[in-house]
Amino acid sequence: MNYIRYLLFNILDISYYFVKGLKRYVYTNSYSNIRILIYHDIKTKKQIKLFKNQILSLSKDYEFITPDEFENGFKNIKTKKDKLLLTFDDGFKSNRKLADQVLNEFDIKALFFIISDFIGVEKQTLNYTKIINNIYPDGPKKNELSLPMDYDDIRYLISKGHVIGCHTSSHKMLSKITSIGDLKNQIILSKDKLESNFNIKIKHFAFPFGTFDSINQSSIKLLDNNFDFIYTGFRGNNKKAAKLNYRDAVNPEMSFIRLKSFLIGNADFLYKRKFNILKSYLN
Ligand SMILES: [Zn+2]
Repeated sequence: MNYIRYLLFNILDISYYFVKGLKRYVYTNSYSNIRILIYHDIKTKKQIKLFKNQILSLSKDYEFITPDEFENGFKNIKTKKDKLLLTFDDGFKSNRKLADQVLNEFDIKALFFIISDFIGVEKQTLNYTKIINNIYPDGPKKNELSLPMDYDDIRYLISKGHVIGCHTSSHKMLSKITSIGDLKNQIILSKDKLESNFNIKIKHFAFPFGTFDSINQSSIKLLDNNFDFIYTGFRGNNKKAAKLNYRDAVNPEMSFIRLKSFLIGNADFLYKRKFNILKSYLN
């Protein structure tokens, strides 16, 4: 399966220029699309440099929008350029440094999805081990043992105009939770904790993992009643902010051609059918 996926993505890469040319020809007057990118822990000097290069390269073809503009349907934005919204999952310490070193420089406002019980947790504690194992179910690699942001780091992000979203209490796979009490702890308690600690309103929620297997009907129903915007890991175009949104998982090491191939929608067909199943859970 992995080999087939590898082959398929390479074919999609090659088709990038063809599709780009075709779309430009067919859709010159159409509405712009919005793609939402998912990044995680970008911490080494090399990764930060690669990330900066990606942002520079993407800014030629796309306009970065703020979480507020996304919420408001970017009514005040006149250009027909395709739009990008940056999101960061899991709340690692590196997020603050990246905001400082790159995002602020480009005046990009991003959406940070925080695991509420992970905030300020020290290494070598039970909580750290529990949550890091939830984030990396196959066991974290050595270079994945990163610290989370503390309360001051998150306050700093908010003060710079970034937006905080909820990413559960402890990054459990919600589809595996059988008790409604546990599900409420992961979703509602987590939201309440973020709201009271930072004195803000939380409107955004991102599913841990974000795959089809990690999402079920009861979690979607509970989220529907408690959040304005829910984010998956399904690749696709968002025409406007919706209750359930597509997102593209990317990383700084990804080649430009692979990145742009995803963003032009070459792999979207792999996700469309299952996304519609999730959407049907909303009502
Ligand atoms: Zn996550």
